[in-house]
Amino acid sequence: MSSTHDMPFKQLVETLDRLERISARTQMTVILVNLFKQTPPEIIDKVIYLMQGKLGPDWKDIPNFGVSEKFLVKAISLSYKKPEREVLELYKKLGDLGLVAEKLASESGASQAAGLMSWIGGGGKKELTVNEVYNTLYRVALAQGEGSRDIKIRLVSGLLSDADPLEARYIVRIIEGRLRLGVGDATVLDALAIAFGEGVKDRPIVERAYNLRADLGHIAKICASKGVKVLSDVKPEVGIPIRPMLAERLSDPVEILNKIGGEGLVEYKYDGERGQIHKKGNEIYIYSRRLENITRMYPDVKEMALKYIKAEEAIVEGEIVAVDPETMELRPFQELMRRKRKHDIHIAMKEVPVAVFLFDTMYVNGEDLTVKPLPERRSRLESIIEQTPEWSIATYIKTGDPDEFMKFFMKAVSEGAEGVMAKAIHQDSIYRAGARGWLWIKFKRDYKSEMIDTVDLVAVGGFYGRGRRGGKIGTLLMAAYDPETDTFKTVCKVGSGFTDEDLDKMYSLFEPYIIPHKHPRVDSIIKPDLWFVPAKVAEIIGAELTLSPLHTCCWNRVRTGAGISIRFPRFIRWRDDKSPEDATTTQELLEMYMRQLKKIEEAK
Ligand code: ATP
Repeated sequence: MSSTHDMPFKQLVETLDRLERISARTQMTVILVNLFKQTPPEIIDKVIYLMQGKLGPDWKDIPNFGVSEKFLVKAISLSYKKPEREVLELYKKLGDLGLVAEKLASESGASQAAGLMSWIGGGGKKELTVNEVYNTLYRVALAQGEGSRDIKIRLVSGLLSDADPLEARYIVRIIEGRLRLGVGDATVLDALAIAFGEGVKDRPIVERAYNLRADLGHIAKICASKGVKVLSDVKPEVGIPIRPMLAERLSDPVEILNKIGGEGLVEYKYDGERGQIHKKGNEIYIYSRRLENITRMYPDVKEMALKYIKAEEAIVEGEIVAVDPETMELRPFQELMRRKRKHDIHIAMKEVPVAVFLFDTMYVNGEDLTVKPLPERRSRLESIIEQTPEWSIATYIKTGDPDEFMKFFMKAVSEGAEGVMAKAIHQDSIYRAGARGWLWIKFKRDYKSEMIDTVDLVAVGGFYGRGRRGGKIGTLLMAAYDPETDTFKTVCKVGSGFTDEDLDKMYSLFEPYIIPHKHPRVDSIIKPDLWFVPAKVAEIIGAELTLSPLHTCCWNRVRTGAGISIRFPRFIRWRDDKSPEDATTTQELLEMYMRQLKKIEEAK
């Protein structure tokens, strides 16, 4: 029986039935407003979840029902005491198990009405309530592992036996994941503003609260019990994801800088997965761009968050990126995806280590920072975290100069980033949760191409590695040969592709060539830990050729203030059969770059 904190399930399914027959959003809103007004506040969250065919927001990680079509056929057959064959035949005819259950329920209801069931003692259906249905469905979802199939069958057929025909239709559709009534979040928000506030005028308040706490049921419960106005004071809450702020896109640095107010932060735009990291004491939750709970995928990030977030409670945001742990070089997005596809997360974690580049904080120890301008949020972020190579603030500059912007962009791309993000820093540069706007503007490479040929480059310098490569040379500075000037001009740093054996031998390999200063025939902006006499040639492959302000190969030839570089370079093998002057020339690299450009143009 329904108490004051509950309501007959029938009332909900009658609304669902009405919603199913219409498609105009305005009509839907009216129906929802009526339903919400009649719903006790204690269960309005459940009503909303069920209406959307769920048991909670997606990020709550409630297991799915885990039942097949075959399972439902069996449950229906048990509930209505019909052979499975008959259920299947009916299914073939009606094409919807919900309708099958409805039909069989009405037939069995008719026989009950005729007194047959009660005469043999099978009557006495009880009236289902929203709470009962919701709680039973929750138990169905939670039943996992051995013996769970029997439990699920018992629970579902129990529900169906008590359900009237319309209720049976929707119970089955919810379990099957086929309740598609088209009631979107936006319509629910409209209806909440009308039902519990002063109409559409209050919609922005409801929407803001939802953007800060992405849980429709939770928001509905607050406004149903306390009124819409209370929502104005809602702050982010640890454990409930914030809908992410999104960026616009432009392709001209001058225009971008104008749009953000002349000057702003320009940061590396990393190519990984966005992570919204929540910390409360010893608890950590990580949510994705789409607000899924991805904590389980990243035990390493969880550990870093626990160790390096100094605040008791905080919500920070950053990009999780695959990296080479020894050189900290960025690795392509595909590697992160490879990690996600692996079943054993602990193996995947070792094979594809990640770093986190933080770019925002929205909440610290009870304080809502979304309303603060970006410079304030950034200084808070810096003050609450400890930075390490794997856990650091995104690389950035503050600039209003388009040339500096471009130079930084090229550096970002040549180091493996996807481009840059320009961010406003004026007084109104708040964190606009759930909105795409001009406070953040992305500037990406608008092309993708592949480097098909390998190149042979000369090692002119070396860097010491960290971790496994501590004290060893882990990265080499590589150069192309320029016959015109008889010099070696740098193209890239390579730290990937070496085997453990290669690394072990690296120092002794280069020892005879180490010199205390740059070799006179080497032209380099970068200063390595060790300089070498140009002698050893290696074959290198990369993802593509790109422009870079850090490398001198073909300096100013394609673009003022930039040379040609290789993105994501990998060592393939030593070419001891080649002398340094046999290495790929700068002219050859220029031609490769031009061919690549032509291919991109043709593809457009
Ligand atoms: P969007 O997320 O804007 O809908 P999208 O999914 O195609 O578009 P992108 O165009 O690649 O994503 O750009 C936005 C994403 O860039 C962010 O969601 C975030 O994951 C990522 N990103 C990387 N570096 C930064 C940074 N420094 N600041 C903000 N976002 C960053």
